[in-house]
Amino acid sequence: NDIRENLSYETFGRAVRELAQTIADDGFEPDIVLSIARGGVFVAGGLAYALDCKNIHLVNVEFYTGVGTTLEMPVMLAPVPNAIDFTDKKVLIADDVADTGKTLKLVHDFCLETVAEVRSAVIYEKSHSLVKCEYVWKRTDDWINFPWSVDEPVVKRAGQVLDA
Ligand code: 5GP
Repeated sequence: NDIRENLSYETFGRAVRELAQTIADDGFEPDIVLSIARGGVFVAGGLAYALDCKNIHLVNVEFYTGVGTTLEMPVMLAPVPNAIDFTDKKVLIADDVADTGKTLKLVHDFCLETVAEVRSAVIYEKSHSLVKCEYVWKRTDDWINFPWSVDEPVVKRAGQVLDA
């Protein structure tokens, strides 16, 4: 499948507002927006403003270990949010896309241990995702070009060590 779903920053701006409207219309008022870095940071910022939610947390998840290898499963990188922060809170997990859904499942299961309620919002969800998000802007099975990652970084960096 060579077809690409191209998301521009302009369309992203509209998408995140529409996604927030869907969440508001559903009556869900999160205490915390938990973003999955890095792609989910853009989504979480837009949702938090649109939903008038002042608390944003962040969790770093990578499939990529930083030594040129891809893991079979995604891993949460340090610092992992303190579960105490989430006790009895309504948490909205925000990410750019649920593809296999493994990343979202990891974070969702982590939250389930302590939070009062956890729901997930994504810009895109693919049909084979093992997690079905409560809030989805658009469904596609194509590879998505996101505006923040479609271009090469302005600098090339080698040998970055990630804190697993
Ligand atoms: P997962 O397979 O765990 O649902 O997705 C993990 C991460 O892989 C996503 O958060 C995203 O950063 C990246 N990813 C998955 N599918 C796509 C895609 O279609 N386009 C881009 N640019 N990244 C993707």
